[in-house]
Amino acid sequence: MSVAERKGPSVGVPFVDLKAQYRTIRDEVRAAIDGVVEEAAFIGGKALHEFQDAFGRYCGARHGIGVSSGTSALHLALDACGVRPGDEVVTVPNTFIATTEAITQAGATIRFVDADPESFCLDPARLEAAITSKTKVVMPVHLFGQTAEIDPIAAIARPRGIRIVEDAAQAHGAEYKGRRAGTLGDIAGFSFYPGKNLGAYGDGGFVTTDDDTMATRVRLLLDHGRTTKYEHIAEGYNYRLDALQAAILSVKLRHLDAWTESRRRVAKAYDERLAGIDGLRLPVEQANRRHVYHIYALRTDRRDALKSHLETRGIAAGVHYPIPLHLQPAYRHLAIPKGSFPVAERLAETFLSLPMYPEMGEPEIDAVCSAVRGFFEGKRGA
Ligand SMILES: *Cc1c(COP(=O)(O)O)cnc(C)c1O
Repeated sequence: MSVAERKGPSVGVPFVDLKAQYRTIRDEVRAAIDGVVEEAAFIGGKALHEFQDAFGRYCGARHGIGVSSGTSALHLALDACGVRPGDEVVTVPNTFIATTEAITQAGATIRFVDADPESFCLDPARLEAAITSKTKVVMPVHLFGQTAEIDPIAAIARPRGIRIVEDAAQAHGAEYKGRRAGTLGDIAGFSFYPGKNLGAYGDGGFVTTDDDTMATRVRLLLDHGRTTKYEHIAEGYNYRLDALQAAILSVKLRHLDAWTESRRRVAKAYDERLAGIDGLRLPVEQANRRHVYHIYALRTDRRDALKSHLETRGIAAGVHYPIPLHLQPAYRHLAIPKGSFPVAERLAETFLSLPMYPEMGEPEIDAVCSAVRGFFEGKRGA
């Protein structure tokens, strides 16, 4: 880009741009929607089964099961691990509340363990101290699209008979030592919330597992515990993924690898152009991991000022997440004081997420990088 263009009117940059994505797949999506509507097969049916097979295969899991949301996926995954009232489930406080809602929905007690300051995922070095005789499951979150460090977690969990449930809601296609998210634990939950890397046109979710018994349990509970139309061997839930969403997701799945490549291209551009700024720390792709950059999160002590600086220039930035779960009003009853999870608390104070979507072009990347650089360099000169 020439200097003249650089000085021209600033380019507005949204945080994500789902309309831009739709324009690239409009005809395919409309044909898929028509197919379902013309068949009037809205629940179950071919569209659902095709998508379940396709995304299960994509992850490399034996079983792929569509459900109504990421939250319901995690709830069912915990139930399938045998989690019952009185049990404890270990996870991190720096995640979206759905992670811990699922624990409560399964009737269990939440036990937090702090995050690793570099990967932002569950710190394996702190896991053992959080385990008690009641611990049934450890639920690492593959935060921002990078998987947790599973091997050391498994080394602690497995000998104790503790199951691993992956919160893979942000990690479609992410890899650890060449294995994909969704195959790293005993069972995993994905989200297809519209803004996720693979997003539906509404709510949706998915469970993957290699375990036949767990898969049977999930399939039973997601559809009212029925074995035939009006025979129910348990009370379950209405947690089905509907056929329209499944048909749309099948179309979008065909583009997922290209979109992931594009997210990695944007991340690489940020890495290169924002390197070496005093007071700014960039996210790092950890060894043996393939990051799918659901979120590209910077860290700076001047987070709020940087966020305003970007916003006045038409650049949307986000904070994921401003309040760690143990300090949320919803969890006041847990009575966990501030200071209990210093890494998660520090991340919440310093994180800033830059715009990140596959359709981002050079002008948008350039606008973001110039504005971030301008903030830090301008201040020094002032
Ligand atoms: C989005 C998300 C969920 C929940 O998914 P929904 O589909 O919105 O229910 C769970 N965990 C994490 C980490 C998420 O980002």
